[in-house]
Amino acid sequence: MQDSPRPVVAVANRLPVHDVGDGWQLSPGGLVTALKPVMSARSGAWVGWDGGSKDTPTRLPELSIELAPVRLSAAQVRDYYHGFANRTLWPLLHNAIEKPVFERSWWKAYGDVNARFADAAVKALDATPDALLWVHDYHLLLVPELVRARRPEQRTGFFLHTPWPSPDVFARVPWRKELLLGLLGADVVSFHTGRYLTNFVRACGRLLKDEGVRVSGDSLVLPDGRTVRTSASPISIDVAQFGKVATSEQADADLAVVQEQFAGRTVLLGVDRLDYTKGIVERLLAFEALLERRPDLREQVVLVQVAVPSRDDVREYRQLRSNVEQIAGRINGRFTQPGKDVPVHYLYRSLAPQALSAYYAAADVMLVTPLVDGMNLVAKEYVAVQDARGLCGALVLSEFTGAADELEESLLCNPFDVEGLSAIVERALEMPVEQRRAAMSAMGRRVTEHDVHSWVDVQLADIGG
Ligand code: UDP
Repeated sequence: MQDSPRPVVAVANRLPVHDVGDGWQLSPGGLVTALKPVMSARSGAWVGWDGGSKDTPTRLPELSIELAPVRLSAAQVRDYYHGFANRTLWPLLHNAIEKPVFERSWWKAYGDVNARFADAAVKALDATPDALLWVHDYHLLLVPELVRARRPEQRTGFFLHTPWPSPDVFARVPWRKELLLGLLGADVVSFHTGRYLTNFVRACGRLLKDEGVRVSGDSLVLPDGRTVRTSASPISIDVAQFGKVATSEQADADLAVVQEQFAGRTVLLGVDRLDYTKGIVERLLAFEALLERRPDLREQVVLVQVAVPSRDDVREYRQLRSNVEQIAGRINGRFTQPGKDVPVHYLYRSLAPQALSAYYAAADVMLVTPLVDGMNLVAKEYVAVQDARGLCGALVLSEFTGAADELEESLLCNPFDVEGLSAIVERALEMPVEQRRAAMSAMGRRVTEHDVHSWVDVQLADIGG
C-alpha cells in the first residue's frame, strides 16, 4: 500500500489571500493555483506576511490548509521588503542591471524578519507532524538555515523564482557568506534553469571554501558531512485553466472587442510589470526604429503595451515609468497620421486574466524582451492561449529569460541590440504561416507537458528525497 503523501508547510513572502472588501479571496497567480489542489490533498500550512492587514483569516473555505500570518512593523516593511528585498537583492540577482544598494540597517531588518518567518515556520511544523518544508524566493534566503538550527532533521526545499547571477556579480554583496549559508540549510535548492544552478554552485565553491564547504558535482558538501543537492526545474502555468478561460464565451466576446478596435492592423503585444528588468524601453526603441525604416508599416501595425504598476515608491521605477511614457509619446507624436489611430497603445494598469487572455489571442506578435528574467510566465501564457484557440502568432523571446530554454522554437532575440531586435520584429511580421504554426504547436505541446502541476510534483518529490 502506498504511504499517504506528506503534508506541506509552504513559506513565502505573502500569504495567498487578499481582501476584496466584503471578504477574503484566494489570490490569483500560478503558485497559488498550483499549490491549492496539492495542499488540499496533503494538508499543511502556508506561512506569509499578512500585508499589514489585521484580520487576515487563518482558513478559507476553498483552501483546506492553515494560514499562518506573519506581522511586520512599518519599519520592518520599509527596511526588509522595500529596502533589502527590492533594492538590494532584486537588482543583485538580476545581474546588477540596476546598481544594488547596500545598507547595513536593511540587512539587519532582513535578518530579523527572516527569523520571524522561521519562528512561524517552526510553529507550523510543530503542529503538522512529518511535514515537508518548502521555502520560496529571495525574500527568505536565511530561513532554511534558521529552521535547520532548531529542527536538524527537517526535510526542507528552497525554490528561487529569480535568476542567480554569475559569481562575480553575487560576490559584490557584503553579506554573501551569510546568504549562501542561509540557503544551505535546505536539503535541496532549486532554480529555473541549469545556468542559475551552475552560478550558485560556483558561488558556493568560491565564497564558502574557507567555511569548509566542498563542491561535489551539482551538490555541496558541508563540514558536518551533510549534502545539499541542487536542482533545475522551470516553473510553469496552469495550462488547462488558461485554455478554459481562453476558449470561454466571454473570451470570444472580449476578443471581438479588441479585434474590432484594431481591425485591419497587425497587433504586436507587450505585457510586463513596469520593471527595469523587462526591457520595455529597448522594445519601444526597436519598434520606433522599425517604423522609421518601414514607412509602409506605420498604419499597418499597432503595439499594445500593458505595463502593470510596480514598486512606484522606488526612484528607479518612477524614472523608468517616465522614460517609457516619454518614448511612447514620442513614437505616437512622430508616426500618427492625421485622422488615424496611434501606433502605440499604452495601458498603465493591471488586467484581469480574462481581459489579458483576449489580448493574448488578438496578438499576431508577442514581444517578450526582458534584459533578464528568471522565467517569464507571460511567454508561456501567450503560447497556452494561442494554442488553445488554434492560433499561430509569433513569439519574439529574449534569450535572457528562463523561458527561452524551453521555448526554443520562438524567435530568440538579444534585447540589448536594439537594431537587431527591430530586425527580428520585422522577421516576425513576415514569418510564413506554416512556420508559425509548426513553432506554436511545438511550444504548445511542451508547455502543456510541463505545466505547473507537474512542476509542483517534481519539487515535492525532490524535497521528500
Ligand atoms: N499579469 C496579470 N495582469 C496583467 C499583466 C500581467 O495578471 O495586466 C500576470 C500575468 O498573467 C503573469 C504575471 O502577471 O502570470 C507576470 O508573471 P511573469 O513571470 O511574466 O513576470 P513577473 O511579474 O513575475 O516578473
